Amino acid sequence: MPAAKQKKRIAIFGSTGSIGTQALDVIRSHNELFEVEILTAHSNAELLIEQALEFEPNAVLIGDEAKYEMLKTALVSKNIKVFAGEKALEELADFNTYDIMLAAIVGFAGLKPTLKAVSKGKMVALANKETLVVAGDIVMQTALEHRAPIIPVDSEHSAIFQCLVGESRNPIEKIILTASGGPFLGKKPNFLVNVKRDHALQHPNWSMGAKITIDSATLMNKGLEMIEAKWLFNLKPEQVEVVIHQQSVIHSMVQFQDGSIKAQMGLPDMKLPIQYALGFPHRIKNEFPRFSFRKYPNLSFEEPDFKTFRNLGLAIQALKAGGNTACVLNAANEIAVWAFLKNRIGFLDITAVVEKTIEKINFIQKPSLEEYFESDGEARNFAASIIKL
Ligand code: NDP
Ligand code: MG
Repeated sequence: MPAAKQKKRIAIFGSTGSIGTQALDVIRSHNELFEVEILTAHSNAELLIEQALEFEPNAVLIGDEAKYEMLKTALVSKNIKVFAGEKALEELADFNTYDIMLAAIVGFAGLKPTLKAVSKGKMVALANKETLVVAGDIVMQTALEHRAPIIPVDSEHSAIFQCLVGESRNPIEKIILTASGGPFLGKKPNFLVNVKRDHALQHPNWSMGAKITIDSATLMNKGLEMIEAKWLFNLKPEQVEVVIHQQSVIHSMVQFQDGSIKAQMGLPDMKLPIQYALGFPHRIKNEFPRFSFRKYPNLSFEEPDFKTFRNLGLAIQALKAGGNTACVLNAANEIAVWAFLKNRIGFLDITAVVEKTIEKINFIQKPSLEEYFESDGEARNFAASIIKL
């Protein structure tokens, strides 16, 4: 009789977010394949408790230390280790008892635990693109040294990854990242200047966390994805292209040196790339709704409006400059998006804050990890000072 297959033990860092909850949906539907080992949240203790009671992981962590007692009390009857404080994220990432880390924390905060997992040679299903934007060279080098597979979860990068399966001997000519264009496609600065948070939070095709939704509206998300792609697939800046594809059914494409293009398609649903990453190298049968060409008789493609959505140009500048520029861009953007979400600055101010911060912070050609942290801190302080936070 064949030995029973071991379940993959999943550590979800950022389990209460959009990606985290969708990952738990995938795991719930395939509990013969997966079990939950670690769950972490920043401050949403209520949801974390609910998840912990359902999935009974080995350990949970809440970033907000004030919520430790609440978590501990709620889980007292269960055999679950309870941690608090963001510093302990790395401690959990250091556990030997998980097989895959799903890196689903938003922003720079995801870097340390992800790097820890990679340095242990763990497989990482990577949603947290900021990790690669900030310190892509160090993360990829560490992954290489410790043979840690990084499987992208970001839908565009999952698409490219899928297109590259079986093509290891074939050089990439370029990749084409598709962008929906967000809720303000076709709009001009005279419209954008008055945009408010609630409008910007309504994405036409994807339901996501607040930060990435704003990044999608400003096109910064696509810029961050260009940098993410450079590191994941070892590309030169000129090999990464963006095309606006409003329907979001072609998730991205790879062009090979014979001019042939492979695309990966499907309905816009993050559960698919999440499931692909967790199941890799196997595709898992599911009941997700199927794509129908008849429902999409017109697929459109157009050039991004670089003049209006200047974040994309700033990200390309950072992609080309290398060094700590993308780290600075990311930090300034996190501060500016946060301020926009709090109604402290306008939509177009986000770009202004990022631009001024890049101009201000000293360029470092080959930063160490400490220098990335310093650049991140300096950029945050400077961005906050111009916003007058
Ligand atoms: P959400 O804001 O929905 O969730 C973020 C998660 O991280 C939550 O669990 C949150 O906890 C936790 N968190 C927030 N801040 C911190 C912090 N400082 N330290 C530790 N944990 C923290 O984000 P998304 O799920 O939308 O996105 C997660 C990542 O995946 C991002 O990097 C995003 O760019 C990427 N991504 C997301 C996609 C999507 O469809 N949502 C698509 C492609 C990529 P709490 O709930 O307690 O605040
Ligand atoms: Mg994406």
